[in-house]
Amino acid sequence: MTLDIAKVALPVPLDKTFDYLIKPNTYPVIGGRVRVPFGRQHLIGIVVALTDHSDFPREQIKPLGTVIDRETLWSPALFGLLKWASQYYQYPLGDTLANAMPALLRKGREASPTALKSWALTEAGKNQPLTNLKRAPRQVQVLTVLQQGVTSHEALLAQEISSATLKALVEKGWIEEKTEQPKLNNWLKHFEVTEEKPRLNEEQALAIATVNCNPDYGCYLLEGVTGSGKTEVYLNLLEPVLAAGKQALILVPEIGLTPQTINRFKRRFNVPLETIHSGLNDTERLSAWLAGRDNQAGIIIGTRSALFTPFANLGIIIVDEEHDLSYKQQDSLRYHARDIAVLRANKENIPVILGSATPALESLHNAKTGKYHHLTLTQRAGVAQKARHGVLDIKGLYLESGLSAPLIAQMRKHLQAGNQVILFLNRRGFSPAIMCHECGWLADCQRCDIHYTFHQQTGELRCHHCGGQRPIMPQCGGCGSTQLIPVGVGTEQLEQQLATLFPEYKAVRIDRDSTRRKGSLENYLEAIKNNEYQILIGTQMLAKGHHFPNVTLVALIDVDSALFSNDFRASERLAQLFIQVAGRAGRASKPGEVMLQTHHPEHALLQDLLHKGYDSFASAALNERKQAWLPPYTYLALMRAESNDNDQVLQFLQQVRNTFETSPRFNQDVCIMGPNPAPLARRAGRYRWQLLLQAPDRKTLQQLLNIAKPMVQLLPLAKKVRWSIDVEPQDL
Ligand code: ADP
Ligand code: ZN
Ligand code: ZN
Repeated sequence: MTLDIAKVALPVPLDKTFDYLIKPNTYPVIGGRVRVPFGRQHLIGIVVALTDHSDFPREQIKPLGTVIDRETLWSPALFGLLKWASQYYQYPLGDTLANAMPALLRKGREASPTALKSWALTEAGKNQPLTNLKRAPRQVQVLTVLQQGVTSHEALLAQEISSATLKALVEKGWIEEKTEQPKLNNWLKHFEVTEEKPRLNEEQALAIATVNCNPDYGCYLLEGVTGSGKTEVYLNLLEPVLAAGKQALILVPEIGLTPQTINRFKRRFNVPLETIHSGLNDTERLSAWLAGRDNQAGIIIGTRSALFTPFANLGIIIVDEEHDLSYKQQDSLRYHARDIAVLRANKENIPVILGSATPALESLHNAKTGKYHHLTLTQRAGVAQKARHGVLDIKGLYLESGLSAPLIAQMRKHLQAGNQVILFLNRRGFSPAIMCHECGWLADCQRCDIHYTFHQQTGELRCHHCGGQRPIMPQCGGCGSTQLIPVGVGTEQLEQQLATLFPEYKAVRIDRDSTRRKGSLENYLEAIKNNEYQILIGTQMLAKGHHFPNVTLVALIDVDSALFSNDFRASERLAQLFIQVAGRAGRASKPGEVMLQTHHPEHALLQDLLHKGYDSFASAALNERKQAWLPPYTYLALMRAESNDNDQVLQFLQQVRNTFETSPRFNQDVCIMGPNPAPLARRAGRYRWQLLLQAPDRKTLQQLLNIAKPMVQLLPLAKKVRWSIDVEPQDL
């Protein structure tokens, strides 16, 4: 029996692998890249199996092209995890593997650090009397340098040696090119703790001891308010791991990867540290990936995608702000990095710590049912006090650009005391709509089911969904009146209003519009710390990962939109935002205050949150979810479909529904809802519908999808509409 067939996963949107004949004397490896003919082109794919069997006769199978890797790119644990993720999230294996690789590897670049080109004397060169070369001073120079030893190409270029000179010497047979692999560095030899550690409080010590007493897999939910010392716990947990020569992976939300975060880890340990995030170029990304694999980094801190980095010897995974939405990928492989981190830890048999002040309800549920260990930090480390909070009933009150008189008065009080104020409003732009004052006509994006947002600064109408923009029209599109007025309040308008209300204080707006330029967020944060601004206006962005010791008042301008949203997770997100911002306000000498403006102060959820805290809110919310058969008590998959032809999408999803309903796995415990219009029913000219699948457990959901998906793919309409499956969707 010879294993003469390689099964190869290719980056094509098909749920299968492709067979290729292995030519004699070529040695593809499982998990390694190969180049293969595919149609009229050549593609780079990953070998997933070597076998002696194919469903096709040998003469129909094309031979494998070149073998790129002699060793697998992934450890068995990580390769297994990627295959699992492809299955679970219903995304083709070839695409999944391609996405998990740095772009340069996808393009066929060698999976090793760039070799250094250098030059050395040959035997003939060593015996060459330099006096023979009087008329070639450059050549003499090269030979003289090389007599001292092997010299890098770069170093010679720096001495203004030309390629022609080198070539001439090569032709004479006096020098030769050498390629040298960069030396691997053993960071463990120099490992040390490089700063003084604070004395741990009892809760911190207990949390650390709990994790440390079991070196194997365990998932720990570390719940502690902002400033309670979670990062200090992470640092303490890393210490024995690094001291044993093992590596650490720290995942942070997209906005959380700030210089402050990185510096805390750099200050503590004398260990090489790499960061992985969307700002890296291809070379940097490959280099970070290799640093993990070759044990050239002891610590890797990164956003979502860092999860798939290979490690030589991974010892611990930390997921900071585990509730954060940016851990869920919203396209291609729609994975949740927190969930896969737990699975990776399990496969690698190491501990994983999920940290948050406001754990996701899913995680709390797992802690309550004993799947995760629950560790809590209840005290704020250092000296900060708990913030006071109050609800402002704004029913019937006049609002000035969204601000009620009592809030304005409160702001004045805090500002006059020399403190800073944060106002949260999750709406960019000047106003979320432009309306005709005479006939009520609204300016709508032509391609989406949504009003244009008015951006006064640029005089533009912008669609926040398709990105379309146009100058504001001079006249109403309905009656021709010129009286067009902004409706509703966005951050831009709030900023303007504040300049009128508080001319003596400086306001700054932190949102995606104002921080588009690289580094501008850091600059703003620095300026805020230096008290250059007194009023901070922000969207969600401002709630995460930053400490503002001089902020004593935090106000949520509009909580009603979250209380009455269609998305069942909206209230959870509001609660998380509230706790996160409450944690940013105040310190010992200056207690903080949080205010919420609402038309519904009696709302049970708000009351729970305000008077009993996040845990109580979470228990009540979990209870509601249980009654309503929602996650984490059931498992969801969302089929999204869109097309320019409304009837086609609807018909397609109707057929999908039938496919599910006639599947042998379908039973009474499974529920299908839809087709329903997507929250944004038309976007960029395409009609969008969705179908929600709800099952009592993961297994049933997976079996349903696994059986139905191939049948759905065979539907003639499946090729006409754009569709996707989102397993455990975060946005409904
Ligand atoms: P979190 O990550 O929960 O927001 P941090 O670990 O950043 O909390 O701690 C908040 C602040 O308190 C930091 O400045 C940190 O250095 C300090 N800190 C943490 N633990 C202790 C401790 N045991 N004793 C004194 N200061 C501490
Ligand atoms: Zn649009
Ligand atoms: Zn009009």
